[in-house]
Amino acid sequence: MFIKGICPAYFVKFPRVVRVYCPRCNAYTDHTVTIYSHGKRRDLAEGQRRYLRKLKGYGSSRKPKQKRFSKTTKKVVVKLQCRQCGYVVMKTLGRLKKVELVEVK
Ligand SMILES: [Zn+2]
Repeated sequence: MFIKGICPAYFVKFPRVVRVYCPRCNAYTDHTVTIYSHGKRRDLAEGQRRYLRKLKGYGSSRKPKQKRFSKTTKKVVVKLQCRQCGYVVMKTLGRLKKVELVEVK
C-alpha cells in the first residue's frame, strides 16, 4: 500500500490519521493509525506449555539464552483502521529507531 507523500525509510514522525485505500469500502477513506505491538504470551498455549515442561528438571534449556543482540532497530508495524467500516490493515514501515505519531494540520 502506498501512502502519498510519506517515505517510510526516513520518516519517523507518522500522522495519526492517513487517507488511504480501504478494500472494503473500495474507496479512499480516513484511517486511524496506531503502532502495533505484540500481545502477551499465553501460558496455556500448547507450544508454551511444551516449552515450560522442557525447562523443568535437570538438563539444559531448550533454546540458548540470548547473550548479545546485534540489531539496534526494530521493524515497526502500524495498524490502519478505516473510520467508515472499521476494517484493519497492517502496514510495515521497516526498520526504524523511533516512531512518533503526530497530528498533521
Ligand atoms: Zn472502510
